[in-house]
Amino acid sequence: MRLIVASNNNHKIHEIKEILKPFNIDVVSLKEAGINIDIVEDEKTFEENAYKKAKTIYDLTNEAVLADDSGLEVYALDNAPGVYSARFAGEECNYQKNNEKLLKLLENVDDKDRGARFVCTMILITKEGKVIKSVGTIEGVISREMKGNNGFGYDPLFIVPSLNKTFAELSEEEKNKISHRGRALDNLKKELEAYFNVRG
Ligand code: IMP
Repeated sequence: MRLIVASNNNHKIHEIKEILKPFNIDVVSLKEAGINIDIVEDEKTFEENAYKKAKTIYDLTNEAVLADDSGLEVYALDNAPGVYSARFAGEECNYQKNNEKLLKLLENVDDKDRGARFVCTMILITKEGKVIKSVGTIEGVISREMKGNNGFGYDPLFIVPSLNKTFAELSEEEKNKISHRGRALDNLKKELEAYFNVRG
């Protein structure tokens, strides 16, 4: 039995595959499942977007599906970019432009007010159609400059205070242990163990 990850984001798929490696579950991306679809993420919350992605693929395949919707909430910006994290700097944006826009908006914000968190909401739909939700978060601080070359998205700007390093300065293993995505999957572990009849 396999688990389809309802995403076209290679970084996310790679992280999810790494985190689920100990489970011996056959985790496949949309591409690997032969599904060529672009699902518009136009809902107002992470949960609604994750559900939309999972349900669209479930309706197409009737197989077990996992969808992740995630983003960065910056407190000084009223929790922006939030669900708009991927396209913060506009439709033609990329990770670099998104980070530059964030730095610019926080230019005059004091160190003590640069708090933020990553949020990841996961929706698992089992082959039988049972819907299971899980949320993972991690608190951090937005740096004044980009640091590190690992990861993706806002990783070069997201400082983990206890380590005094950005996500992009951590190894993949270090990030996955504490990240919003790692934590959301951790909460799903019991369900996954029971459902796939495997142990992590
Ligand atoms: P979506 O969940 O595909 O809508 O997009 C999530 C967006 O949030 C990504 O394009 C990134 O900009 C950001 N994001 C989500 N998770 C991470 C992460 O682990 N590191 C850095 N940026 C992230």
